Amino acid sequence: MISSEAENAERIVSPKASSDDFGKFENNLRPKKFADYVGQEIIRENLMIAIEAAKGRDEVLDHVLLHGAPGLGKTTLASVIAAEFGVNMKVTSGPALEKQGDIASIISNLEPFDVLFIDEIHRLKSVVEEVLYTAMEDFGIDIIIGKGPSARNMRINLPKFTLIGATTKVSMISAPLLSRFGNVFKLQFYSEKEICEIVMRSAKILGCSLDMEVAKLIANCARQTPRIANRLLKRVRDYADVKHNSIISAESVSMAMRSLGIDEIGLDSVDREILSIIIEKFRGGPVGLNTIAAAISEEQSTVEDIYEPFLIQKGFLERTARGRMVTDRAYRHLQMLHKDTLKNA
Ligand code: ADP
Repeated sequence: MISSEAENAERIVSPKASSDDFGKFENNLRPKKFADYVGQEIIRENLMIAIEAAKGRDEVLDHVLLHGAPGLGKTTLASVIAAEFGVNMKVTSGPALEKQGDIASIISNLEPFDVLFIDEIHRLKSVVEEVLYTAMEDFGIDIIIGKGPSARNMRINLPKFTLIGATTKVSMISAPLLSRFGNVFKLQFYSEKEICEIVMRSAKILGCSLDMEVAKLIANCARQTPRIANRLLKRVRDYADVKHNSIISAESVSMAMRSLGIDEIGLDSVDREILSIIIEKFRGGPVGLNTIAAAISEEQSTVEDIYEPFLIQKGFLERTARGRMVTDRAYRHLQMLHKDTLKNA
């Protein structure tokens, strides 16, 4: 039986934040300025220009929506934007905002030009979202005083602010909310070179030395995601401290990865189990998502949101109209025989 949703959060190659990511060094690892923020060049350039222009006109920065897979640096980028704009950032999340009053009080306590960061903005309740419409557009909130025929509308003015929303599911954001963001950016997965750069930078901050070749080995397993790269680096460092006199070598990387069950391209045991089950039980597919979920005793949404994206991105799994299919590349990686080969044998 494969782990539950709660355990998935602790999976070493999960891109979602886990308890492992909140150690004392985590804050130090987060880039504070654009100069330290690796990759995402087009987004960075656009934002630098938008910030310079807003500063020059003494205006508030237009609202920003950042979307992309977990761990790609949305929260980090939001804090870099606030720092570069020279303002404070207040952090909250969609599910934490229950009532209209919650969002109204947060915004009214901001200083002019401050950034309000709402993580998981696709999970906002509709009553809260409606308040945001006028707050984002006119920097005001309408409240109704009294009931029945004597009820009247009152506008409360708010400080000018920049909303930065982050989401992993942009398709779940309503059209009226989406249209109120002046800047919408999709964060991309990172290249191997960029992940290497992040590993080298983090290693320096953590006070450990490693060369580029060793950083590359860690980067290969990091699923093109900075959060996973930092997490793996910390595990490799633990391994080196205990087994190799604190020297991070190719050997300590491969031993740490083996003990974590991660192969040389970042697949863990669950990924390999999914692919093997489709090959062994369903002749490589096509097979429906619900059948895969049942075969590995998991929720459909967990398979779809947590396991599948990386397997698809790596070209190991394909979504077709008839269901999921394992690709030739997966057969080769797992060193399993293709069904056509077996048929002809
Ligand atoms: P998200 O909000 O998209 O889930 P985070 O912003 O929390 O991701 O990033 C996870 C971690 O990865 C951060 O703590 C930071 O140390 C690191 N990180 C993310 N993006 C970058 C980047 N572009 N350059 C360097 N480190 C990064």
